[in-house]
Amino acid sequence: MANDDIFKKIIAHCKEYGFIFPSSEIYDGLGAVYDYGQNGAELKNNIKQYWWKAMVQMNENIVGIDSAIFMHPRIWEASGHVAAFHDPLIDNKDSKKRYRADQLIEEQLQKIEDKIEKEVEKAAARFGDKFDERLFRETNPRVTENVAKYNELKNRFVKALENEDLAEIKQVIIDNNIVCPVSGTANWTDVRQFNLMFSTQLGSVSEETNTIYLRPETAQGIFVNYLNVQKTGRMKIPFGIAQIGKAFRNEIVARQWIMRMREFEQMEMQFFIRPGSEMEWYEYWKEKRIKWHKALDMGDENYRFHDHDKLAHYANAAADIEFRFPIGFKEVEGIHSRTNFDLGNHEKFSGKKIQYFDPDTNEGYTPYVIETSIGVDRMFFTIIANAYTEEKVEREGSAKEDRIVLKLPPALAPVKLAVLPLTKKDSLPEKAREIMDRLKFDFNCQYEEKDSIGRRYRRQDAIGTPFCITIDHQSLADNTVTIRYRDSMEQERVSIDRLPQIMDEKVSMRKLLEKL
Ligand code: ATP
Repeated sequence: MANDDIFKKIIAHCKEYGFIFPSSEIYDGLGAVYDYGQNGAELKNNIKQYWWKAMVQMNENIVGIDSAIFMHPRIWEASGHVAAFHDPLIDNKDSKKRYRADQLIEEQLQKIEDKIEKEVEKAAARFGDKFDERLFRETNPRVTENVAKYNELKNRFVKALENEDLAEIKQVIIDNNIVCPVSGTANWTDVRQFNLMFSTQLGSVSEETNTIYLRPETAQGIFVNYLNVQKTGRMKIPFGIAQIGKAFRNEIVARQWIMRMREFEQMEMQFFIRPGSEMEWYEYWKEKRIKWHKALDMGDENYRFHDHDKLAHYANAAADIEFRFPIGFKEVEGIHSRTNFDLGNHEKFSGKKIQYFDPDTNEGYTPYVIETSIGVDRMFFTIIANAYTEEKVEREGSAKEDRIVLKLPPALAPVKLAVLPLTKKDSLPEKAREIMDRLKFDFNCQYEEKDSIGRRYRRQDAIGTPFCITIDHQSLADNTVTIRYRDSMEQERVSIDRLPQIMDEKVSMRKLLEKL
C-alpha cells in the first residue's frame, strides 16, 4: 500500500474510533486545529505521563512547573521572537498556493537523497554478499553525480539561510527547477518573512490596551521562573525544570494533520549548567532522549538524528530526533544547546540579576542551558503510525478476514482491559461487574456486553486494548476467566485472583521506566 494511502487511513481510523476530530467540525473545521476524542485524550495523557515520570520522577535534579500561556510582552522581545521568529514564505501565482520556501528546497534535497539510496539498494540486491557499499558510493557515476548535486544545493541553501538572503532563496528554487506540486509551474512570487506569533489584546478596549502574544514555545515560562524555582527549590547546578503545555504558531503551511498544527502541545525541559560544560551535557541529553523513544519498541531503525543546517538565533548546537512517519522521516523532538542567550537577555531586559553563585567553585555566572523539546502531538502521531496494522486473520471454519489492530505499547493504550461477559444472562454480567469493580482503581477498564464476542474483540483491537477478559459459564464454577491477547489473539485461562498481578506486569508504566 502506498504510504499516502496509509496516512489517509490512519486519519480516518483516528476519527472513526474517537482519537482525533477536526476542530469545530460541524462548522466545517478550522485550519490545522484538532480535538482529541475519548480515546485520543487517554492516549495523549499516557504519553505525557510517560514523559513527566521519565523526566521529573526519575531525575532527582529535575522539577516540573506549569506556567501561564499569557506572559509579559517584553519577554518575547528579550527571547528574540518578535524580531526573528519567522519563516520564509513564497506563493505560486498560478495555483495561488502558499509554501515555506525552505521546505520546498528541503524536499528537493530529500528527492536527491532518495535517488542515491535507491541506486545503492538496487546494487546491493544485485551483488549480494560481494557488495562493497563504500566502493560503490565512491565510484558509481550516477551516485557521485547526485552526491555532487546534493552538496552544491545544500551549501547554497544553508548559506542563503544564514545570510537571510531571501532573493537568493528564490533563485535557488528557480535554478533547481522546483515547481508547485499543484500547478506544476515555477511562476513564483518573491520570498517574504512571516512572523509566526499570534497576538491579542490584554485588558478591555476602553482601557489602555496592551498587545500580548500566545506563547510560541513553553520554554520562556521556564526561563522567567528560573530564579523562583532555583531559590525556592534550593536547586544546585546542574538541574532542570520541565513543563508540559500548549504552544501556538501561525504556521504558513499547516497541512499534514497533527504534524503541523496552529495550536499544539509541547513537553520541554531546560537543563541549567556551568558554562563550558554544554557539549558534554548536549551529548548526554541526546543519548537520554533517544533511549526514551526506543524504550517504546517501535523499531530502532525508525529513528535518526538530524543536525540542524541553520542554527536558531539562540543556539550553538542543535539536533532533531526524526521518526520514520508514513510521510517520511520528520522531526519529533529537538535537543538544543541554547547557551546563556535567554537568561542573559532576560537579565538585560528585566533589569533583574539572574546569576548563579556556585558554592563549590565560589564563582558567579549566568547558567548555560541544554533544552529538550518534544511535541506531544507529533509523538502521538509516531505511536499511532507505528501501531496501525491491517491483517488477514484466520477464523475457524470460514475464510480469512481482515482485522485492523492498533498495536500500541500496552502502557500507553487508552483502555488497558476490556471486560466482556460471553452472554447478557445467567449472572455473567454480574460476575463481570465484580471484576471491573476490582480492577478499575488501577487500570482504565471498559465493560461491553453488546454484540457477539468476535465483534467486541475487533472493536477493542481497533482502539488498541491489549487485553480482553471473557467471563463464561466456567467462570461461575471455578472463578477463572480467559485473557485474550490483542497482538497474537491467543487465549489463556487464568484465575480471577491473579488478574491484578498479571495486569500490573503487562501494562504498568514502571516496565517502560525501568528500561531508561
Ligand atoms: P519544524 O522545523 O518542523 O517547524 P521546529 O524546529 O520549529 O519544527 P521546535 O521549535 O524545535 O520545532 O519545537 C519543538 C517541538 O515542537 C518539535 O520537535 C515538534 O515536535 C513540536 N512542534 C513544533 N511546531 C509544531 C507544530 N506546528 N505542530 C505540532 N508540533 C509542533
